[in-house]
Amino acid sequence: MEDFEFECWDCWETNYIKGRPKGFWTTTHYELPGEWNCWSCGAVNTTPDD
Ligand SMILES: [Zn+2]
Repeated sequence: MEDFEFECWDCWETNYIKGRPKGFWTTTHYELPGEWNCWSCGAVNTTPDD
């Protein structure tokens, strides 16, 4: 597991989103949830595509 930092579009607080490795063989690609709620204001954010 690895944490990725995203800033909330609404309040600009930094959120730490956990990513899961996409396969056993790679540590360079992670799968992130498509949507997450900001811990601070609760706004729904979408994860940008890589
Ligand atoms: Zn927020």
